[in-house]
Amino acid sequence: MHYIQNVLLQLLFALTPFVLYNIYYHDKPVNYSKNFITITCTLCLILSMTFPSSVQSGFIFDIRYVIMFFGLVFGSMFTGLILLVEFVIYRLLIGGEGLVSAMIIFMMTYTLSIVLSTLYRSRSEYRGLITFFAGICFSVIPIGILFLMKFNYLTENLPFHLIVIFSQNSLGIWLLISLFNKAVADKQLYLKFLQKDKVETIGHVAASLAHEVRNPLTAVLGFLKLIRQDSISKEKKQYYIDICVEEIQRTEEILSEYLSIAKPIDPTYEEIDLERQLLSVIEIMTPYARMNDVTLEIHNKGQSLHISANSKEINQLFINFIKNAIEACTSVTRGKVIIRMDFESLLAKVIIHDNGIGMSNEQLDKLGTIYFSSKNRGTGLGLTYSYQLIRSMNGSVSVRSEQGKGTEFIITLPVSTA
Ligand code: ADP
Ligand code: MG
Repeated sequence: MHYIQNVLLQLLFALTPFVLYNIYYHDKPVNYSKNFITITCTLCLILSMTFPSSVQSGFIFDIRYVIMFFGLVFGSMFTGLILLVEFVIYRLLIGGEGLVSAMIIFMMTYTLSIVLSTLYRSRSEYRGLITFFAGICFSVIPIGILFLMKFNYLTENLPFHLIVIFSQNSLGIWLLISLFNKAVADKQLYLKFLQKDKVETIGHVAASLAHEVRNPLTAVLGFLKLIRQDSISKEKKQYYIDICVEEIQRTEEILSEYLSIAKPIDPTYEEIDLERQLLSVIEIMTPYARMNDVTLEIHNKGQSLHISANSKEINQLFINFIKNAIEACTSVTRGKVIIRMDFESLLAKVIIHDNGIGMSNEQLDKLGTIYFSSKNRGTGLGLTYSYQLIRSMNGSVSVRSEQGKGTEFIITLPVSTA
């Protein structure tokens, strides 16, 4: 019973990086970083060495080799080095009779881990086999060294060593590597689809944009033709030129707004004027609304609200909601999307209301879950990304919808107090 408790505790520690990855990266549109691996492995090593399996004081068994291998595979050589230093210092502090053999075993497994992790990275077809082999080696090496150096101690506690060391290392490495790989692969797939969805959204907006840019260009062309005539007065000429400049400036603004959403997101946070941001998104989305015969309006009470966010992420967020609202209105007559802003106990509210097709309760339940879409060519990623982003900004989102009547999304975000 005691053995099982020991093993279970160590397996729990082995899962620390996996659990922390799921918590920390759950709402983030990026995959893990090497620093994350280094930090979680450091933590995991301390935990497992502080509460190790042991039958005789001074001889401790934990999942240090598993963590080292995992750190080298998913982190870097730097991670390995940090773990090595951490292990040596901490093991010296613990001390005891098994100190020398522990150091010898660790140096051997460390070198082996470097070789195996390099192989693991370069030979993807043998990953399962390499992991299995590593688990066996990490069990056989300590037992072998103890056999040579501490024969009596080993034989007195043989069942403990055979059961605990083999289970901890083989099961630990298999659990950690396979679960972590699965989580990382899922995230990668999600990010890939997200990128595809973003490109598609941009494509839709671009189609309507080309439409929009044509109008001012036609106007400018007309005025230029007028200016070319000799018969018109100097004042009129000046007036026409002013209109042309204005139209071209507007076109330029529309294009630069569009280009800014098409660029990849950088991770900088800044103070954002919510109203200005919304106005610029509406500028981008108006052509799309017009193309679909939908009116797009913003009703604001002129309050100035600031939030701390990444402006491109916020743009993408509002585009997703507004685009859905416009799309929900395409099949109704006099489709209308209204955006409002509100402020309530340190929270900024953005309300996106449409009089479109609405949603059934069943659809509402699935909202924001990955890949849910009721559209023929929809991806269901727009809202998944948006919901995650809102959560990562400590905000929330609520929705009211009635089939045939319309939908209202209320996005709540904390205002910045700085
Ligand atoms: P997509 O637009 O690719 O379908 P989204 O994640 O943006 O994916 O939206 C998921 C689903 O949520 C849509 O397919 C639609 O069924 C529903 N939905 C979102 N917004 C609205 C809305 N304003 N009115 C009606 N249905 C909506
Ligand atoms: Mg959408």
